Amino acid sequence: MELNRRRFIKNSALAGTGMLGIPVLKANSHNEPADNAIPMAVATWNNTAAIQAAAGIIHRGGSALDAVEAGARVPEADPGDLSVGYGGLPDANGIVTLDACIMDHLGNAGSVTYLQHIKHPVSVARKVMEETPHVMLSGAGALTFALEQGFKKENLLTDESRQAWEKWSKEKKPFGETNFENHDTIGILAIDQQGNISGACTTSGMAYKRHGRVGDSPIIGAGMYVDNEVGGACATGVGEYVMKTLGSFLIVELMRQGKSPQQACEEAIKRIVTRHPRRFKDFQVGYLAVNKQGQTGAYGTEKGFEYTLLQQESNRVHPADYYLKD
Ligand code: ASP
Repeated sequence: MELNRRRFIKNSALAGTGMLGIPVLKANSHNEPADNAIPMAVATWNNTAAIQAAAGIIHRGGSALDAVEAGARVPEADPGDLSVGYGGLPDANGIVTLDACIMDHLGNAGSVTYLQHIKHPVSVARKVMEETPHVMLSGAGALTFALEQGFKKENLLTDESRQAWEKWSKEKKPFGETNFENHDTIGILAIDQQGNISGACTTSGMAYKRHGRVGDSPIIGAGMYVDNEVGGACATGVGEYVMKTLGSFLIVELMRQGKSPQQACEEAIKRIVTRHPRRFKDFQVGYLAVNKQGQTGAYGTEKGFEYTLLQQESNRVHPADYYLKD
């Protein structure tokens, strides 16, 4: 948690001083669509570099699918990002295992779970979608497939992540099914100039999770879901609660029924709160959504969730509204 919080504080502090050139705006509970709200891209947390990569593609007329993949690859390659890809914090056994998924505007989907040694699980997920008749590959089978597709086997455990794990191991903190403290998964949604939507989600999962644990992020409909008739949604936070309510699918279906993205995110968080009235105060879940008009919504169980939105020329970090107020 210390590492994660340090990154969060560092980024927020720099953004607050304008040093990153990224203003952090006040929470906006109902983001209205701008006149030219499309193309657009939006990602969980402070992910301006990822959004910049996505923007480069959609502003040149590229596809939303290429944009979300390019965006997700940025934190995957960043050793300083302790929740995604290379440098992601390992599981309880000190092993980095990655989960990712991707979905396009035609309803095609690909996913990998419990993947080791491959820096870009989102790109392997795309290959699963495009090169196999399947949606999801896991573990050793996913690794074999990735190697067949030309991905390189790498050591993903950095010195910083190994040292953090060693410290955690020595402290012998009480350990439940998951460690609820470190989460910074990137979920990214984009709408291209043709008005088509795609989404991706990638993570190393909860830090020091039980070996073999898979979270919500690679589960289509839990960690991410898009429907080109309606919009898309993605999730971050403790995946167990997202999976048990199929959060992203729920949000898209609520938007289909006429809710705004903001209202849909709020209802999905309230579903978790209602189901887990005693537990929800102990963990964070954050939802992010966009409808086909480019109107966005975001909501967390508690303070701290934020998202990065590219619309028109601006690429900005926004704090999300949240349920647990004093
Ligand atoms: N949702 C991820 C998981 O449960 C964690 C995160 O958001 O960082 O694996």
